[in-house]
Amino acid sequence: MERPINNNHVNSSVDADFSELMDFSYDMAKKLLPFLARRRIPLTPENYHLFYDYFLGSNPELTRQLNEALQKESLFTPAVSNRIYKTFYEIDSEHVKVLTQMGEQIETISTSLEENLGQSLDSTGRFQHFLNDSVSQIEHGQLRAEEMKRLVDSLLSETKNALDSQSALADLMEASNKVIVALTEELKDKTRQANIDDLTQLYNRRFMKQRFGELIHEFSVGGFKSLSMAIFDLDRFKTINDTWGHSVGDKVLVITSKIIKSFAGDYHVACRYGGEEFVILFVGLEETEVESLTESIRKKLEETQITIRGENIPVTISAGISYYVPGEDEIAFITRADKALYEAKAAGRNQVKVARE
Ligand code: GH3
Ligand code: MG
Ligand code: MG
Repeated sequence: MERPINNNHVNSSVDADFSELMDFSYDMAKKLLPFLARRRIPLTPENYHLFYDYFLGSNPELTRQLNEALQKESLFTPAVSNRIYKTFYEIDSEHVKVLTQMGEQIETISTSLEENLGQSLDSTGRFQHFLNDSVSQIEHGQLRAEEMKRLVDSLLSETKNALDSQSALADLMEASNKVIVALTEELKDKTRQANIDDLTQLYNRRFMKQRFGELIHEFSVGGFKSLSMAIFDLDRFKTINDTWGHSVGDKVLVITSKIIKSFAGDYHVACRYGGEEFVILFVGLEETEVESLTESIRKKLEETQITIRGENIPVTISAGISYYVPGEDEIAFITRADKALYEAKAAGRNQVKVARE
């Protein structure tokens, strides 16, 4: 049988990483498809993406909202799915393109299944029922991974039996699986891009706002022992732009961001908060550790030689620190850091001040 799916964009030299990724995505698809079918959630790219992240468990707030919606809404309607999707993913035109492409691929998969099974399986209807029938054999409630695996395996083997040519379905599953892997990767990439500032490659303000809420929630349920923030602002940055030009200003922003990232690491959340303002959300550190890291960033930038056309450009930064006080909201938390930053500026710049409650 000819491969029904066009996967030109899938690298044909399947390397170890890719095959590992494929196993992972295949396991995900095996969990996801029955889950969606059992709850009569339409198999759309948006839903696939939402529940992919749900199973990944990487975004507690998303998990919470989906659990709530699943409990409340007897049907996970497109309106509900759209609302949640828009909350968590910035939908730019690139993103829409990928989603549309994914939608087309899912339709192709359904059409191919339809042809192979010799019966009508429209993309959201019959395919769903087909899965539903098998899934309903399993008792309700929480399904363990092992049970899921057995279910999907028997589902696949039953489908195989229904086919004249057994290898046709295997081909189809393999092809559709590659498509799912490739598209899921593209979606992840698009989501990543929506969270990252182009110039500095730090997280952007949008992502920071999201993580901020999540971290406050995690802290309040005892996830870690402290939450702190440092807000940074380059000193007299306008003068740097005016003297050396905007592109030199950009270069300074990139150098500063690299220093900030090198101290924040992957664990703490480093963001470009505004033009020449940066925020680090520190998780679980002692106050002395926060102060010493922030001071190290200030010192490192001061000591970094930035040379343009043989001339040295002195660059310094000021910072304000605040420690999260249980119960306060994000605005109060950041306003206190901002006040401390203002004090650092007023006291002569190139220094760090700490907000006290
Ligand atoms: P202060 O020490 O009080 O913070 O002084 P400042 O000059 O840094 O502060 P001000 O707010 O007056 O100026 C900030 C400047 O940052 C103005 C703006 O043109 C510049 N800026 C903002 N975003 C960018 C950017 O992406 N690239 C460049 N090159 N400049 C930027
Ligand atoms: Mg500023
Ligand atoms: Mg400034």
